[in-house]
Amino acid sequence: MKHIGAYAIWYDTAVPGWVAVNDKQQHSFGNGTRGERAAIRHALRAEFPQVAAAVEHLCTHFPEAASRGWAAAELLILGYVLTPDPTEPGEVARVRSQRQGRWYRLLQQTDGRLACDCPDYAQGGLALASPPLANQLLCKHLLAYFLAGHLAWPLTATTPVPLHPKRSMAGRFRGRAVTAVGHYNSHRLINSQAAARYGNGQPVLPAHQTHYKSFVAFTQQRPFSQEKLLSWSLGR
Ligand SMILES: [Zn+2]
Repeated sequence: MKHIGAYAIWYDTAVPGWVAVNDKQQHSFGNGTRGERAAIRHALRAEFPQVAAAVEHLCTHFPEAASRGWAAAELLILGYVLTPDPTEPGEVARVRSQRQGRWYRLLQQTDGRLACDCPDYAQGGLALASPPLANQLLCKHLLAYFLAGHLAWPLTATTPVPLHPKRSMAGRFRGRAVTAVGHYNSHRLINSQAAARYGNGQPVLPAHQTHYKSFVAFTQQRPFSQEKLLSWSLGR
């Protein structure tokens, strides 16, 4: 599930298809990547019209920038474009990854261009044929940074960490633990007024009640464990 402003976006097996839902309405957008993309763009247009308009303007001139442009919009509105670590020379910003607990660094090069240390950039990224972004290879992270500059969107302030995650993780980051599917109490509607307990029987701590209620409201199930709940909540 993704959250964009007041919208939640997920695949609804009852429709079936991708839906964008807020507290007033639900729109469905069909199956597959196309449906998911359409649902996300619908929510972006409704919730962040100035960001959506900037991406649409870019796509009018450079249709090939669409997938990276819309992905950049998501990174921006999620607050994933971060201020640089002032102790890292040449770093102009960092951008959090949506999939993994890491980020990429945007670095000023000696020729004045910016580089990103993500795989897309390393493989050539996207090159636009005409200004204002010509002569600058692009990835979604760099586009998110340029979008922030264009919209005067503030970067998210972060506390610098001493080591780059690539160096400190010692190997591939494997993401959060996932509860075994067989243990999950699926296909049961949960009464949200019932005493708050996890599927494993543990009571829900007062500090986690809000997360618990939104989990139940969105999934119509209760989370199996506190770890599962917080993983869902932090991953939104
Ligand atoms: Zn990148």
